[in-house]
This record gives sequence, structure tokens and C-alpha cells, in this order.
Amino acid sequence: MPEPNAPSSRLPGFYKLSVEERLDALAALVPLSAEERYQLRKEALAVGLADQMVENVVGVFGLPFAVAANFRINDRDYLIPMTVEESSVVAAAGHVAKLVREHGRITASSTEPVMIGQTQIVDLPDPETARRRVLEMRDRILAIANEQDPVLRDLGGGARDVEARLLDTRRGPMLVVHLLVDVRDAMGANAVNTMCEALALYLEGLTGGKVLLRIVSNLADRRLARARIEVAPEAFDERDWKGSVVAEGVVKACAFAEADPWRAATHNKGIMNGIDALVVATGNDWRAIEAGAHAYAARDGRYKPLSRWDLTPEGRLVGEIELPMALGTVGGATKVHPVARLALRILGVASARELAEVAAAVGLVQNLAALRSLAAEGIQRGHMTLHARNVAISAGAAGDSVALVANQMVREGRIRFDRARQLLRHALKRAGEEVQRMETRLHDRSPEPPAPKPEPLKEPGRDKP
Ligand code: NAD
Repeated sequence: MPEPNAPSSRLPGFYKLSVEERLDALAALVPLSAEERYQLRKEALAVGLADQMVENVVGVFGLPFAVAANFRINDRDYLIPMTVEESSVVAAAGHVAKLVREHGRITASSTEPVMIGQTQIVDLPDPETARRRVLEMRDRILAIANEQDPVLRDLGGGARDVEARLLDTRRGPMLVVHLLVDVRDAMGANAVNTMCEALALYLEGLTGGKVLLRIVSNLADRRLARARIEVAPEAFDERDWKGSVVAEGVVKACAFAEADPWRAATHNKGIMNGIDALVVATGNDWRAIEAGAHAYAARDGRYKPLSRWDLTPEGRLVGEIELPMALGTVGGATKVHPVARLALRILGVASARELAEVAAAVGLVQNLAALRSLAAEGIQRGHMTLHARNVAISAGAAGDSVALVANQMVREGRIRFDRARQLLRHALKRAGEEVQRMETRLHDRSPEPPAPKPEPLKEPGRDKP
């Protein structure tokens, strides 16, 4: 059922507004305090706070914070906060979310938020007896674990189960005890690590071995998020191509990734473009999400795409994704970083599970966006303008010269650093000449001469007849 209080995520023309106007439009949907506006515009993270977060701080590092529009997941609208440095990610997500909204549906689900804590036990006198004893003492192990986190237990979470696995390694046999912990709305690493550390002495006594590592596993395969998109092929109809051809192209692109790990890595990178942007924006641990996703993609011993695209007999395009999603709405930096707090408010999720479902859906939409453009116009057309701006900036352009240089490179279809430098030098030369003319006029106090006709921009290699 749609949430009555969820604001619409349709923001027509949002991309054409200035940053200030976008903030006004956002504030009309999610009330923003003066402090939050200040944080977004001026100081996302105060250096004093950064200094409390990690060691050896010498400053803060800024990244764009954007909002992707048009998302409707499980019949509820979401504005998706995204922090990402790569151009086109946000625009592509919002564009494809709109197509799906108009021609299809996104649904998502998740498992209980269960993380795995691993305890490695070595130097065992009798590995098999040790394994059996751990399983026999399951209840005692769970009780010790649950004494460590009364908050989690009171919230309905806590240690749920124990597993014991014998590993044959190049350093001899080892027993690995898995503690399965329902971490509710936390990412859970600290909570699980604390429990595993508290169990060390007891497990040593029980097994006669020596406990070595006690740490959460980032292959969080008991904490999965799933999303599904079903969309009519007409969603992809354009002047130059039929949507059904694009939909078939998306399925063929997926088949390519299933058969080829080189392609699968890029396929999954496209998924993570969306997921990471949301994970970073909400102050979550994106290394944990990345590690979990790629380990899960290789769980059968071969690296595979995390999503699968198919056509129904009626020709509708259906995509599905499943991956570990260890995200929190409490703990870590989620409540420390002011913009992460705001991002969670913009999203309006009620739990970490809901956040995980949204993240899976964003990943699948981002995946469809990339496959759609690859199967139609190719990735570069959509990327070009913003990419050209970045090339212009890295070549030294600033202010108005960014658009001047970028637009000229797009017109020429050659977006290159050397060309950006050349165009920039040309623009600077002309600006210098203009300044000189103005100075001369001021000096002479003579009436203004007619402005000279602007010279056409010259391309390399074509300067001479
Ligand atoms: P945390 O310890 O900051 O917060 C979790 C605690 O919050 C719980 O133990 C519980 O006591 C309390 N809590 C309050 N309300 C809760 C609710 N509604 N649901 C659940 N718990 C609630 O953080 P964490 O989530 O245990 O750990 C996350 C941090 O650990 C991240 O910063 C991550 O980068 C870091 N970390 C990751 C790894 C790894 O991924 N391998 C290893 C070590 C640390």
C-alpha cells in the first residue's frame, strides 16, 4: 500500500533549476532547517567532527550530494539521496526510474537482518569433537553473546544461532564458529565483533584450541535484499529505435555478462554505481557493501552478474537482483554525519531492511539504465556533456569557460584533455585581447569602437589552409 505521508518523488524540471531552487523544491517535500540548508550549501562536515571520526585529520573532502527523482518502489515514492563523483549516474537513475514508473513496476523484499560473526579456532587436539561440543553448547553460546548487547536484545534482535565448520587449510585443520546475529537497524559489525570477542575464552575452554580471529563476515549472505523490475518494452521506444529491440538488447547484454567474467565485472560496477552512491550518502560502510556484493557474485566459484534480465512470453522486460545488504540506519557514521542524517530523512525509511530494499532497487534501476543505453545509443552520448565539463575543469577551466569549452568539445565530438587545453588557451587569448581593447579605450577616453567579429574556434590540424 502506498504510504500516505510519503512525498511524491516526481520532480519535473528539477535538473533545470539552480542549486538554491532545487533546495527550495526539496524543502517543500522534506522540511529543511536553516542548519541543514547551511550544511548542504557550505559545511557538510565540520573539521572538528571529522577529527573525531578518524585519525590524523587535516581537512574534509567534498563530494556532490544529489537527489534522484521518480523512484516508486513497492508502490511508495522515494527521493534517493546520492553521493557520487561520476557524472551521469544520478541523471540515468532518475530517467530510468521515470520510464519504469510510467510503464512498469519496481518491487523489493529482504530477509531478516542477520549478520555472521566468525571465530577461528586453531591448534585443536580433536577438531571433530570440538565441532560437536560447540553445537551441543549452542544455547550457552547464545546466552553469552546476548549478554553483550542488551539494547539489541530489547529491540528484538540478538544472537540467533550457532554453526560450526571444519576447514582443512595449509596450516592444518581449523574450526570456524559462525554466530548468526539479528542486528535489527544496525550495519552490525561492531555489535557482532563484540559478541565474538566475548565468546573467545569460553570457546577455548570448550574446544581445547586457541581462538585467533573474531570478526564479522562481509559475505552477509543471510542478510539479502532483492528487487524486481517489470517494464513494458514501449518504455524504451525512441525516434531511432523500437523499445522491443532495446529490451532484447538488454537481455543479450545480460547473457554476455553471464558467460564472461570480464563483462560481469562491468555489469556489476554499473549496479554498484547506484548502490554505492546511496550507501555513501547515508553514511554507511561502502567497502562492506562492495566486498559483500562481489563475494556473493562469485559464490558458485565463478564471478557472475548480480542481476538477471529476461523477457516474458508477452515481451515485457523483467529484471531481478539479489545481493547482501549490510546497511544501517543507526550506528557507524549514519547518525554522526549531519548530511547522512539528512539523507535518511529525505529517504524516509523506517528500518534498515527498508533501506536495503531501496538500495537493491536503485542498483537494479542503475543497471537497467546502463544496459539500456549500451543496447541503444551507446554509453558515451548520455555521458558526453557532463564528462566534457569534467575534462574542461581538469584542463583548468573555471566559471563560464567550463561550459564554453565543454560545449565546443561536444559539438566537435572530441572530448579530450589536449583539445580542452587548446580551447581554453584560445578563450584566454581572446579574453586578454578584449581586456587590452577596453584598457586602450579607457585610456583614450575615445568613443567605443565597434566590437570586432568573433573569430571562429579553430580545430587542431586545421589551423593552416
Ligand atoms: P554501532 O556499534 O555504532 O551501533 C550498533 C549498536 O547500536 C547496537 O549494538 C545496539 O546496541 C545499538 N542500537 C541502538 N538502536 C538500534 C537499533 N534500532 N537496531 C540495532 N542496534 C541499535 O555500529 P555497528 O552497526 O555495530 O557497526 C557498524 C560500524 O562498524 C561501521 O562504521 C563499520 O564501518 C564498522 N566496521 C566494519 C567492519 C567490517 O565490515 N568488516 C569491521 C569493523 C567495524
